[in-house]
Parts: sequence; C-alpha cells; structure tokens
Amino acid sequence: MFDLEKNIRPNIRNLKPYQSARDEFAGLAEVALDANENPFGFGLNRYPDAGMKKLKSKFAAFRGVKADRLIFGNGSDEIIDLLIRTFCEPGNDQILIFPPTFGMYRVCANINNVGIIEKSQTAEFQIDFEQLRPSLDDPSLKLIFICSPNNPTGNTIEKETIVNIAKSFDGIVVLDEAYIDFGGASMIDESIPNLFILQTFSKALGLAGIRLGVGIGASEVIAVLNKVKPPYNINTLTQQRAVEALSKTEETKRQVASIVSERDKLSQKLSSINGIRNIYPSKANFLLVEIENAALTYTSLCEKGIIVRDRSKEIENTLRITVGSPDENARLIAALREEDHVPVGRVGKCVRSTSETQILADVNLDDPSNTFINTGIPFFDHMLEQIARHGSLGLNVISNGDLYIDPHHTIEDTALALGSAFNDALGERKGIERYGFLLPMDDSLAQVGIDFGGRPWLEWEATFRATHVGEMPTEMVSHFFKSFTDTARCNLNIKVEGDNDHHKIESIFKAFARAIKMAVRKDESGILPSTKGKL
Ligand code: PMP
Repeated sequence: MFDLEKNIRPNIRNLKPYQSARDEFAGLAEVALDANENPFGFGLNRYPDAGMKKLKSKFAAFRGVKADRLIFGNGSDEIIDLLIRTFCEPGNDQILIFPPTFGMYRVCANINNVGIIEKSQTAEFQIDFEQLRPSLDDPSLKLIFICSPNNPTGNTIEKETIVNIAKSFDGIVVLDEAYIDFGGASMIDESIPNLFILQTFSKALGLAGIRLGVGIGASEVIAVLNKVKPPYNINTLTQQRAVEALSKTEETKRQVASIVSERDKLSQKLSSINGIRNIYPSKANFLLVEIENAALTYTSLCEKGIIVRDRSKEIENTLRITVGSPDENARLIAALREEDHVPVGRVGKCVRSTSETQILADVNLDDPSNTFINTGIPFFDHMLEQIARHGSLGLNVISNGDLYIDPHHTIEDTALALGSAFNDALGERKGIERYGFLLPMDDSLAQVGIDFGGRPWLEWEATFRATHVGEMPTEMVSHFFKSFTDTARCNLNIKVEGDNDHHKIESIFKAFARAIKMAVRKDESGILPSTKGKL
C-alpha cells in the first residue's frame, strides 16, 4: 500500500522550505520593495512568477488535469533529479530502471549516490512483471523509472504491466512520457496515487531551447516536491514562451502529424538501403535502426555533416535517428545511398575496421576542395592537414581508435588506410610523373623523395629529442611512413636535420605532401612510367 509519508526522506519530511518574498504576499503589488530587485533594468527586472499561475492553468487545460497536480522543472531532467533527492536517501536507497533506456535516470542516481537496480527487458522490449515482482518488496527501492515510448527503442510499454507494477509497489512509479504525442496513449488520467508522469516541452511542443519539463502526480506528491524545488526555477522568458505555445496547439498538432508521417516515410526509405537489417517500429520521433556496421556508418555520416546517435553500446550495431524535416530526411537518405557525392577526379577510398580501430580514408588527387580530418590526436590531425594542403589533395580521414590504450594503433592504421586510398586512387598508375621530391627549409631541413613505383620501401634518417609532440609519440612518425609505403606501394626516402621537433616533423609532412603532388601529377603522354609494362 502506497504511503507517501513513509517514502519521503526524513530530512525532507521535516524540511521548512524557503519562503520567497512573493510567497508571503497574495495580493497585487503596486509598489514592490520586497525582493531587492533593480527598479530599472531591461524589462525583466522582476523575479519570475514563482507560482507559475498562467503556465499552470494553460497546461492544466491543455492536458485536462487539475493545476495542483503539476510541477515544472528546468527540463524533465530537473524533475528526475528532484524526485531522487526527495525520495532516495543517498548511500541507502535505490531506483530501478529497464535498460536500454534514457540515460539521465542513471546519471541522476549516480550524482546523488543512490543505487541502481537494473532489470532487462524482454526480446520485444517489454517488462516481464513476474520476473520483476520479487524486487518490488525491497524496502530500499523507492522509485521505478519506466519510459514509454522508450528511448532509444521507440516502443510503448503495455499499460496493464504499468498498472500492475504501480499497484504492487509501495514507492513511486515514474512514467516518462516525453514522446507520448507521437503515438502512445498517455496514462495521465489514471487515478493511481503512486503513478508520477513526466512530460516535456522539448519534443512535440518544439521548445527544447526553453528547458521546460512537467511532472504530473497526485497533489500530495506535488506538494512535497514543491518544498524541495528552488522557488524561481522557471524563468520569465520560458514561462512566456510556453504560454504562447499552449495557445497554438492546432499548429503543434499539425507539426506532430507531419513528423509522424515523415517517420513512416523515412522508415520505408531506410528499409531499401543496403546494410540496414532492421528498423524497429516506433511510436516516437526517432527510429532505431540496426545496420551492418553502425560505427562506420556513423563516421561516414559525420563526414557529410549529418549527426545521428550511435546506440551500439546498448543494442549492437544500432543507430538512433531523429525524424527531421523532409529536407533533412532526404539528405540523410541521399548520404546513405551516396547519391549526394559524385566525385570528379581520381579518387580512392579505404574503409578499415578491426577490433582496435575503425578508419575511413578517402583521397581525391585532383580536387582539393573537400578535406575533413579527425583522428582524435590533434597534432596528428595537423600533420595530415599538411598533406592535404601542400599536396593540393582532397583528403577525408576519420579515425575511431582505441586511444584509451595509446595512439599507436590509430596512427598506424590511419597510415595503412591512407596508403590504400592512394593505391586505389592511382589505379593502374598510367600517365603519372611517378617521382617526386623536395627540400624545404625551416629551422630544419627536410628531404622527402617518393616513387609510386608499386613496391614498398622506407629509408629513414631522422631522430627526435622529445618522446612526444602534443599527443603524438615521435616514434610513430617513421612508423606512419612505413605503414603508408606498405599499402600505397611506394618508396619513400626521408631525411631531416634541425633543432625543433615540431618543425622537423611538420617539415617532413609538408615535404611529403609536395613530393606526392609532384609524383601524382598527370603527364600529357598518358603512358605507364615504367619499362616493365606494369606498376
Ligand atoms: N525523457 C526522455 C525519455 C528523453 O529522451 C529526454 C531527452 N531526450 C528527456 C526526458 C529530457 O527532456 P527535457 O528536455 O525536458 O529535459
């Protein structure tokens, strides 16, 4: 049997809440000299309405609930934290979650030193009530978080199961309905005293930027939370914009209908794309998509300026894709089909995936307009940018490597992928100059000779005083070039003299770039630059 008093932390039960200046005065203030405000200011010189009267009455009418059942937070995130702080004794109590689910329940519990019981979901992403039942008697369990539609799986949780859990549990069941307007059936009208519903202005109402979440619970529960909540947590601008939005609910309904119809179209289009294995049915404004190699698709989309969410840590090889505008969705589909990028020039590509690194490298020997480099090692990125800039090449390199071990695998495998991309771009190697070298001077003198003759070789004459430049180990510089020669099938002869290790390495990379530029240049003849007849 749910007993609210028993659930409240003892210090909160006895808490005398902060009384704000405006709480003490119910009438209409003509001369407000009670809150130490600046009488001039810029139009927002007064504290916000702590009671949020307009906002509460508008939202109450919008959802058809009583205003005393509502509490507002700086996003739902604040209310999740508020619930944990009000009901869970740090170091003693616990919450229960059903992963994979929204991450803030766990984060807020961790911040508050509150334990977490995890119960897995069934294969259909539902809750197994019988399996859960024994945990419901644990006296340290105070809050159960259920997300429906669930993030990231997109499905709703059966209503009967939620009712059963609430009825068999003495604590509070928090039902997060953040995505409810995109297809679920809200449980806001259920009169279950320990069911507490979370909604937000960030999704269907389109106001993620104002940070406004709503808690809907029994009025007694709301009264306790109000003791803990900071008095002015919702600022004036947020309250105004929310009230405005609640006056335009017809427009909101149209937007939601359009997102739902885009979701279904997007799902259909995604299903025709190679490598996509499954699209989970969704009642939310996102799709969970199972794909052959989620990490590589993720980085390749990033390269094209499109970000989605990789959820593979929770469900293997899955991406969570938010439903965007029709144009955004079309761009996503085009990027996945590679329709949007028909390169001009000699291009080569390498996708390299091992348990240590995932690398995507492509090079365009004739078009320097498109370069993007991100290996996670800033100095190494700087060096690869030298290759693109001084080689007049288009170069895209995205490396996702095990940097938590050290940079070795990432640098080595990037070099291998880069070499393969050059090998690919050079094709039969007909009609190229083949050789290149340069002697650039800085405080150092670097000499890089190259021969794209089809055989790997590295001659190396360089020493460094420092062990690292930035995050990059100096011993990895020769290793980078050795790996490159292996897959690009070229000879490299590199020498450097000088003082400053940063300059020495940079001048090698610049000289390397200029040598490449010379060697890959097309000659007019178009013949193979070898008497062997093959390179
Ligand atoms: N609940 C769920 C299930 C969410 O996915 C999110 C945000 N993605 C939130 C709550 C956070 O909402 P708010 O922006 O109101 O903090």
